[in-house]
Order: sequence, then C-alpha cells, then structure tokens
Amino acid sequence: PFLLSDRALSLKPSSTVAVTSRALELRRQGVDVISMSVGEPDFDTPAHVKAAAMTAIESGKTKYTAVNGIPELREAISAKFMRENGLSYAPDCVTVTSGGKQALFNAFMALLNPGDEVLIPAPYWVSYPEMVALAGAVPVAVPTTPESGFQLDPQALEARVTPRTRMIVLNSPGNPTGAVFTPEVLEAVAGVAQRHGLIIVTDEMYEHLVYDARQVSIGLYAPEHTLTINGASKAYAMTGWRIGYAGGPKGVIAAMNALQSQSTSNASSVSQYAALAALEEHEATARFIDMARGAYRERRDVIVAGLNALGLPTPTPQGAFYVMANTDRLHTDELEAARRILDDARVAVVPGTDFGAPGQVRLSYATDLNTIHEVLRRIGTLLT
Ligand code: PLP
Repeated sequence: PFLLSDRALSLKPSSTVAVTSRALELRRQGVDVISMSVGEPDFDTPAHVKAAAMTAIESGKTKYTAVNGIPELREAISAKFMRENGLSYAPDCVTVTSGGKQALFNAFMALLNPGDEVLIPAPYWVSYPEMVALAGAVPVAVPTTPESGFQLDPQALEARVTPRTRMIVLNSPGNPTGAVFTPEVLEAVAGVAQRHGLIIVTDEMYEHLVYDARQVSIGLYAPEHTLTINGASKAYAMTGWRIGYAGGPKGVIAAMNALQSQSTSNASSVSQYAALAALEEHEATARFIDMARGAYRERRDVIVAGLNALGLPTPTPQGAFYVMANTDRLHTDELEAARRILDDARVAVVPGTDFGAPGQVRLSYATDLNTIHEVLRRIGTLLT
C-alpha cells in the first residue's frame, strides 16, 4: 500500500550520497578514509554560546516558543542585520527557523507557484534546485566559469529572464565555489530584479568567511525585492543546533510563519538561547570568527597551491571553505574521478555532478592543515 508520492519520487538521488556511502563502507572495512566532503566547520561551538544553552536548560527554557522565535532573538537578529549588513528589518520582519535550510524551504513554499522559473547561478548548492522543484517551480541555471572565479555575469542572468521568471537565488560567498559576488555585480543584479519585478532570495550563510573580498548584502541595493537568509551554522560553528533566520517584507515573513506553524512549530528553544548569546555577545563571537577565518585562509592557500601543483586546476576562492578542482587529468567524468580519488587515494570528495559543475570535484577545507597536507600527498600518488 505504500506507494510513494509523485513529490517524493521526483527527488533526485544525490551523487553526494553515493560517494558518502562508499566512503562509510570503506571505513567499515577498516580502510582509513579522509573525508573532504563535509560542509561544516571543524571548530567547536564557542564556549559563551554553549554556556548560554546550559543556562537555558537549567532555567527551564525548554518549552515551545513563539512560531517565529523568541522576541529577544528576533530583536538581536534585527540589530545584527543593521550592525553587520546595514539592512533594516524590524523584529516582526524576522523569523527564526530550524537551520538556514528551513528558512529557504519556507521561502520557496511561500513564494513559488507551479511553473514559476527561478534563476540560480551554477555551480549551485544542491538543495536549491531540489527545493524549488518541490515547490512545483522550475530551476533555471545561469552558468558561471572557473576562469572568472565563478563570478556572476548580470547580463547572462538577464538573458535568461522570461515572462515566467519569478525569482533569483543568490549565494555569496557560495557553496560550492567560494565565489563572492562583487558590489558592482550585486548592484546590477538588483537592477535586473527591479526591471523585471523579480524576488531576490539571498543566502548569506557564509558571510563572515571571506578572505580577500568584501561581502555586501544585495538587500542594500533592492530592499523592496529582497529576502535575506542567514543562520548560525557556518558563522558560529553551530551546524547541529539548527538555527537559521530570514529577514524580509512583513507579508512574506507572515506566510513563512504560517507554513512553519503547520510543520515544525518553532526552532529548538535551547538553540535559540544559544544563538541569542552568539549575537548579543558579539565581541566574543567576533574573536571566534577572526580565529576561524584566519585558519581557513591558511588552509585555503595550502590546498589551492597543492591542487594546482598536482595539475588539477583550482581557482582561488574568495570565501566559504570549499574549493572546486578540475579533475580532467584523472578522468573526464567527475564521478569516475571522485571514485578513483576515493578508492585509490582514500580521500572522499564530492563530484560536481549535482552542483551543476561537470569536470570538477568539491573539497571542503574545514579540516586541519596536517590533514590537508596528507590529502595532497595521497591525491599526488594518483598523478605521478
Ligand atoms: N545554504 C548553503 C549555501 C549551505 O551550504 C548550507 C549548508 O550546507 C545551508 C544553506 C544550510 O545551513 P543550515 O545548517 O543552517 O541549514
């Protein structure tokens, strides 16, 4: 009797999962596999954040909260948007979700109708096209190139606008490319949205992880078109706490709240108090971010130089903690290349297939320098 729904059947099995399960299988057999595939900081959650969570537990902050989050946290997020991004979102224009992923999911469900087209710069985070399709809408990739450091070309974007286009999804700094869109590009994209009456959903989860570039929020250029998504996972090493948030027009936020009220109700109460400490004690948090950013930059420099030296061309990303390596030297099919790197070099990487990045694999450098040197040594054995 358990016939799966068309919706469930439409979900694409992920090639990421295939590599991850093969890596787990090898580990089970006792093979020492290094994973460069995970998308989370290797640092522990900062102590002041953990302490706030303990206090929340001990003082009984362990019950349902308002659907859109505790008022203190929404106020702290509103203040953060102004302090760090120059964006003006009143606390009732902010909602708190179970991770940035749920904020995006609620946004797509609240805003998209079947047949709407959504422009997504490629390579993209795998969940955007899948979530857009779940909402019945149509993802439309806008290609970017390794030669340009995956910078978005606003003209290429505008060329894909049709009468059905409803939304642009931006992710800068980006997963998987690490690209940071320049203020000029963002201003031009804002112009595209204004000319064609489009919504901009901007995912700024990696905003603090920028190295040589300046991260700017597109909401500065087209405030009336923009829904800004962010969260605690990447910035404060809080992936497991599941706190994300969105700032946007009141009516959109209200619709996202209505969806959430009929699905997950509210983000974890304890995690909300932890995120509150991360935002309120922002000087301690800034010290943590500076430490993490410095470490990521050093790792990035080592891995980019190492992969290029091995003959796997890898642009220098400006942000996030991923690199995209061209694997033509190993195999013209990136799935085969990823399989070889796993089976023969015992390193798990993610093939670009699901990211809209053929011929490339993604490596996360959210791991220590010794591991990165070992990974380069292992991959090097395949190429010499
Ligand atoms: N957006 C991007 C670009 C990501 O890479 C991720 C996590 O990998 C998320 C959103 C989701 O983050 P969260 O853990 O807050 O759901």
